[in-house]
Amino acid sequence: MTDEHALLVLGGGPAGFAAARGFRAEGGEGPVAIVTDEQRMPYERPPLTKELLRGESEESDLPLEDESWLEREHVELISGRAFALDIDGRTVVLAGGRELSYRSCVLAMGAEPLRLPVSGADHPAVRVLRSLDDLRELQHRLTEGTRVVVIGSGFIGCEIAASLKARGHSVALVTDEPAPNATRLGEEAGAVISRWLADDGVELHLGEPVTGIEHRGGQLIVCAANARVQGTVVVMAVGVRPRSELASLAGLECLDGAIPVDAGMRTQASALFAAGDVCIAENVAAARRLRVEHWDDALRHGEIAGRNAAGADEKWDGVPGFWSQIGERWLQFAAWGDGFDSSHFEERGDHGFAVHYRRGGKLVGVLTHEADEDYEAGREAISQHKYV
Ligand SMILES: Cc1cc2nc3c(=O)[nH]c(=O)nc-3n(C[C@H](O)[C@H](O)[C@H](O)COP(=O)(O)OP(=O)(O)OC[C@H]3O[C@@H](n4cnc5c(N)ncnc54)[C@H](O)[C@@H]3O)c2cc1C
Repeated sequence: MTDEHALLVLGGGPAGFAAARGFRAEGGEGPVAIVTDEQRMPYERPPLTKELLRGESEESDLPLEDESWLEREHVELISGRAFALDIDGRTVVLAGGRELSYRSCVLAMGAEPLRLPVSGADHPAVRVLRSLDDLRELQHRLTEGTRVVVIGSGFIGCEIAASLKARGHSVALVTDEPAPNATRLGEEAGAVISRWLADDGVELHLGEPVTGIEHRGGQLIVCAANARVQGTVVVMAVGVRPRSELASLAGLECLDGAIPVDAGMRTQASALFAAGDVCIAENVAAARRLRVEHWDDALRHGEIAGRNAAGADEKWDGVPGFWSQIGERWLQFAAWGDGFDSSHFEERGDHGFAVHYRRGGKLVGVLTHEADEDYEAGREAISQHKYV
């Protein structure tokens, strides 16, 4: 038997949650369901590498809403994994065989962590961190003072390293970057983050592409050209890829693994939207497609998709933005995110700084620490394509 939905959302992260909420806020009527393979209410992912990992908050702080929200908004949360989409027939089949049909559908399956294609990467003590279940599994392996090796120095890797250190673990970070986050943020910002991590007591192995992970007597050894770094647990934080298989198997063409959508989050197929980390979306202000992995943008994408499914005509036009907390320090970053050709670093006050990123003379990004005014002004200037 097929259950018919006015709106069917696949994925219960921020994009999926905001799609259902946006649909109702726009006056969308009829049955709405969110299908999630995480078996829980949509929840905050950012604390998993920050306050929750440091032991400063509780799992009960995570849900975006409590279960009464579902009743109030007449939204059904279906625990299950969507594995087949029939675009012409407007149906979705869940693992186990339940079939759901829809008038509109939002694909919000997010992204999943990558593992390096090196020997030993599939060892059970080599963990990734995307979900609350991942965090529980990681914590299960940590006892007092466990030595952890983090591979990767993007925001997630740096946050994990600093948080585990703050929790009393011995932590080493191994990365192919010359400085943490240098690829995305430039060398000067990378040097600052390097200093922060070193001050916190994280052992850094920079410019060291990992070639393999060996396993000896309950210990793992992360091998690189000039380093052999030992630990009991390894956390791999080397990027993510969109969970777009469902869409491509259904015949949607993907771009670099992401589902292309217009600024209203519409795919090429009618009544089918995509939002959040799984998509690459047209941004009106940028006048091009952007792929981002940011919490606030996932919420905004989802809201646009949900509202548009209910008849609105909203478009994504904000400058994408991200925040990060490395130990006690906060960073704010707003950028189109698809590259810069120069960066300018300036100190602000005792400890703060602002970095402005330009391409062809135009401001395309701003990174700040303890410099909120620079952040706000920079974000405004980016959206107006200013030469500054
Ligand atoms: C640990 C961590 C910390 C982060 N910190 C920050 C931060 O500080 N600032 C920031 O801006 N961003 C941060 N991010 C990024 C941010 O969380 C993501 O950009 C955001 O969660 C993307 O939302 P989404 O809804 O697109 O995807 P997700 O949050 O990945 O949600 C997708 C959901 O869909 C489910 N799903 C996938 N496929 C199926 C299927 N076939 N059937 C059913 N369900 C399915 C997934 O299990 C998941 O529950 C962080 C991410 C992580 C992992």
